[in-house]
Amino acid sequence: MNVHESEKIAGIFVELGYSSTDKVEEADLILFNTCCIRDTAEKHILGNIGDVKCLKKANPNLIVAVVGCMTQQKGMAENLKKKFPFISVVLGTDNLSELSSAIRSIEEKNKRFIADVHDDPNVDVGCALPIHRTSGTNAWVNIMYGCNNFCTYCIVPFVRGRERSRSPKDVLAEVRSLIAQGYPEITLLGQNVDSYRYENYDFSALLQEIAQIDGKFRLRFMTSHPKDFDSKVIDVIASCPNICNNIHLPVQSGSNRVLKLMNRRYTRERYLEIIDEIRGKLPGVGITSDIMTGFPTETDEDFADTVSLMERVRFSNAFTFVYSPRKGTVAAEMEQLPAKVKQDRITELVRIQNRISSELSNVYLGKTEEILTEDVSPKHEGCVCGRTESGRLVTYPGQADLVGKFVNVKIESARSSALFGRII
Ligand code: SF4
Repeated sequence: MNVHESEKIAGIFVELGYSSTDKVEEADLILFNTCCIRDTAEKHILGNIGDVKCLKKANPNLIVAVVGCMTQQKGMAENLKKKFPFISVVLGTDNLSELSSAIRSIEEKNKRFIADVHDDPNVDVGCALPIHRTSGTNAWVNIMYGCNNFCTYCIVPFVRGRERSRSPKDVLAEVRSLIAQGYPEITLLGQNVDSYRYENYDFSALLQEIAQIDGKFRLRFMTSHPKDFDSKVIDVIASCPNICNNIHLPVQSGSNRVLKLMNRRYTRERYLEIIDEIRGKLPGVGITSDIMTGFPTETDEDFADTVSLMERVRFSNAFTFVYSPRKGTVAAEMEQLPAKVKQDRITELVRIQNRISSELSNVYLGKTEEILTEDVSPKHEGCVCGRTESGRLVTYPGQADLVGKFVNVKIESARSSALFGRII
């Protein structure tokens, strides 16, 4: 989500006549696109903003701007101005369309400080903004913004507002244009794509209509929520060969007690039911997840439930992480676990997931998979890399001219979750 917002910001800057530089001391404008989902990310960004002070001293004309969801927190714009008086612009995620005029006002009218941070429930965030896409073969497309769920550990609904779905007409027009430009992969984005709704149009209908657009392309989407997951989506994936057999379905915990405390509004049993339905209808599907440990009051039994769910589902990959309290959320006020307990548990989760990913890699040996070549391999000279439709990374001999092309690769070896092969 933030990567795609950065593409929109870059698009605005290109229109304003700016170009990017690797040398920060030569910059005329520095923008921080912030994220406050984790406390550590916020501390990190505040440190980075502080580091710019000396650059502003050396170049008084330097424009420093801060945008993103961190600024949407109550009182944050004023705090930033007080703490870092050299900041010129503070805008919220709903106000990106004002970035261009804010920068012009600073440049031309020598205004000192512009802040506009407010929730706008009607804003179609940034849809009319120019986009400078930087994500290679994949193009991100927002289908909705915000979240209505209020998981007790998460600050997103407070800083990104309530759910707003884009009109199917706008989404389809954007996707058609991207395919015409030659993008071979489209990823639909939303905090909770399963609750996409525009008049009578739901996510499965949108997915199906996009998949039917002419052209050779792959379609992915994220993120799904087990509470809202709709069987119709599985049927659409099964009937449309260009929708990738890859579903990211965050479970967070395998314990019903913890899921309730998290306000996730599904049970372990319901989650497993969805997994069984997906596996039954989509053979070879890659299911990935987010798994948290160390949530307040998580007991050894709760943790054992998470481990047993991982062993039962066997995710092809999982983003395992330790709960860390986020100020302003309900869970931050609950009784916290000692750091050592959290550390021991995350070490165990990582170990289990690595083993499962590695075991599942062996299933691919000897098979031929269609791969979309995404990039030159950063680790293996003379090789390129790309993904199976199930989301597995594959490395194979090839040159940069293959990037963006679909190739058939025979998988010959596997190392942990990474696969290696050759084009046939
Ligand atoms: S679904 Fe829950 S975790 Fe995801 S963005 Fe919404 S509140 Fe946060």
